[in-house]
Amino acid sequence: MFEPTRRLTLIAVLAAALALGGVVGWLAGGHVATGVAVVALAEIVLLLSPIRHETQPIMTSLPGISPLQHDRFMTRSRRIASSLRDLRSAAGSLPDAVVLLDGQQHVRWFNHAAEDLLGLRRPHDRGADLHERLSTTELAGWLESGAHEPLNDVAAPGHPTRHINVTLLPFGNSQRLLLARDISHLTRLEQIRRDFVANVSHELRTPLTVIHGYLELIDPEDVPELAPVLGEMRAQSKRMGQIVEDLLTLSRLETQEHIAEERVPMTPLMATIRKEAEALSQGRHRITLESTAEADLLGSAKDLHSALSNLVSNAVRYTPTGGSITIRWRRTPEGATYSVTDTGFGIPASHLARLTERFYRVSSSRSRDSGGTGLGLSIVKHVLNLHQARLDIQSEPGQGSTFSCTFGKERLLKPGGNEES
Ligand code: ADP
Repeated sequence: MFEPTRRLTLIAVLAAALALGGVVGWLAGGHVATGVAVVALAEIVLLLSPIRHETQPIMTSLPGISPLQHDRFMTRSRRIASSLRDLRSAAGSLPDAVVLLDGQQHVRWFNHAAEDLLGLRRPHDRGADLHERLSTTELAGWLESGAHEPLNDVAAPGHPTRHINVTLLPFGNSQRLLLARDISHLTRLEQIRRDFVANVSHELRTPLTVIHGYLELIDPEDVPELAPVLGEMRAQSKRMGQIVEDLLTLSRLETQEHIAEERVPMTPLMATIRKEAEALSQGRHRITLESTAEADLLGSAKDLHSALSNLVSNAVRYTPTGGSITIRWRRTPEGATYSVTDTGFGIPASHLARLTERFYRVSSSRSRDSGGTGLGLSIVKHVLNLHQARLDIQSEPGQGSTFSCTFGKERLLKPGGNEES
């Protein structure tokens, strides 16, 4: 049997291992939590391995234990050894790749999935420097820069046709845990979804154009009894056409990895956006422009125009007659911010996080009545992402909303010149 101090040590080690696992699990959160739970078990395996070897000498060195105590000890010892084997095997067969690293980023332990996805080899890579080992892969730069954020959708070093998400988590005393999850099936499903939406939209475009064309040919005066129906049919076919165009725009933005890098002169763009807002408002709102940034943008003129004017069009559509709309382009510490503030209906806080999802609307009837497709903000978000810009939304129901797009300094150009401002 263990002497009391040894028993305390064993309990302390177990508790520490579990606590460590818990902390790492908490840090990891979300989808990696399951993986981390098993990793916590792996830690226990690692931590307890020496204890298993220590138990025998302790037992034999203790004088005067009875045969009964000896039998009990042996049974417990076998149970612990068997649990260790199970834990080791559970951690080893985890589908996510797991690599435990020491303070020097040397590989301390890895499971089977790490061999498959990351290309690590046993026993050769035990103790290897992970940076060096992965230096020719897409993970190299990420590891070098400290790997503070997860790295999403990169080719698996051990399996170039597979895609992985990778996370590096600190734990314990400057140790780290590298987790890699195979997301190939998700990438494939995402591709199927994109292709499907793009194909459906494309296929609908031609028949819709034909229907719309014929409807335009019919003169309501020739069939006065059908005049109201005809008007509704025209409006709806136009709306369907707009939805199809917006879906095609989204498909294009989704598959596009880089955006055009052209100068987008902001003074004329702001003037155009204001004119468009006035045309849409038809005098129902007070529209103000405050353009103080004195900076042009670097990016796609067509896509930026579409995104920035979309926010103004929303402000007009969701602000009752008599309200005010202010369009601003000003400098901020990060770079420059384009914002649209209205005194309209506002949006309850619970909806804000989902507003940029396709077809997400706070009120379907209000959106439809105002001629919306439900895709505008989704397009805005994609365009901003392609320009490494951020969309912030502040809103108060019954008071109004502010939609702000913040562009980094690297996207700003001095008006008229070529150099960055
Ligand atoms: P829609 O075509 O329906 O306007 P959007 O993607 O542009 O689609 O906007 C999504 C939803 O966000 C809208 O249906 C509306 O409920 C809400 N919304 C957008 N802009 C505003 C705004 N300025 N004020 C109040 N609600 C807004």
